[in-house]
Amino acid sequence: QPANVHVLAEALGNDHELIVAGSAKRALELAPTADLVLLDVLMPDMDGLEVCRRLKADEATKRIPVIFVTALEQTENETQGFDAGAVDYIVKPIHPAIVRARVRTHLELKASRDLLERMAAQDSLTGLANRRRFDEAAREEWRRSMRFSQVLTLAFADVDHFKAFNDRHGHGGGDTCLRLVAEALQRLCRRPGELAARYGGEEFVFLLPGIDHEGARRFVQRALDAVAGVHVEGLTQAGALSVSVGAVTLIPSPLNSLEDAIRAADEGLYKAKETGRRRGVVRDLETGETFDVTPGA
Ligand code: GH3
Ligand code: MG
Ligand code: MG
Repeated sequence: QPANVHVLAEALGNDHELIVAGSAKRALELAPTADLVLLDVLMPDMDGLEVCRRLKADEATKRIPVIFVTALEQTENETQGFDAGAVDYIVKPIHPAIVRARVRTHLELKASRDLLERMAAQDSLTGLANRRRFDEAAREEWRRSMRFSQVLTLAFADVDHFKAFNDRHGHGGGDTCLRLVAEALQRLCRRPGELAARYGGEEFVFLLPGIDHEGARRFVQRALDAVAGVHVEGLTQAGALSVSVGAVTLIPSPLNSLEDAIRAADEGLYKAKETGRRRGVVRDLETGETFDVTPGA
């Protein structure tokens, strides 16, 4: 109702950008762009409780806090609102100071939840996905690839002689180096579903859906070249840094497991280290073939 929107705009317009939806349908369309939703219960086309339930059922909007602003003042109305997934319930008439305070509180809570979620998935040094995020994505991708009998490549890259780098250039220099290597490796993942993560220490891991052993060989070569191209300002020249890479390609099925695939990739990495570093070993678990990859250029 325009009158209600007007009062809310008076209360919130100075501190927030308001997007107004004149119908439930429009509200559902606009909601994904919002940080918070204020919702009436009684609306002409669909009641607010149903709108709230739909927002909470949709992955794109379920984390957006919903506050009911309504004339329905019975306890049971309020209970229904919370049951539908609302975080708060404001009974009209609207008191601007109260609405402002509640909106502020819920926006702050959402901001800290968002931050926590990002922190839980991200490596703080490099900004890459962290191991926890990788584990989750890998399990998901494993199931998806199995369902579609689609090939999947996993690759581990470990910086060569990094302990010596640290000893020579200090921990700060080592950190800078890891950031630059991460940046270079991240750039290799361009297709949707591809993920680069910091697995731990100076070890990185890649999830490459739909990439077969040919693609894996090209990818590993690009990774070797990308790291060879990294130079740490004032510390090293291009060509001084290298990684060793172990990769596996397979079609996930009930006959194999993610753990086996990771173990096989790790064995490849070990072999790449053992046979001189600055190289990659790609194993196709479907055919049992193994391919050695050396830097191009
Ligand atoms: P290899 O070629 O066999 O991989 O040898 P390496 O020296 O790279 O391997 P090693 O496992 O002996 O050493 C890894 C080093 O990485 C030791 C550790 O101090 C360093 N490291 C791990 N995480 C970090 C980090 O976040 N920052 C810095 N600066 N160093 C790290
Ligand atoms: Mg290493
Ligand atoms: Mg290591």
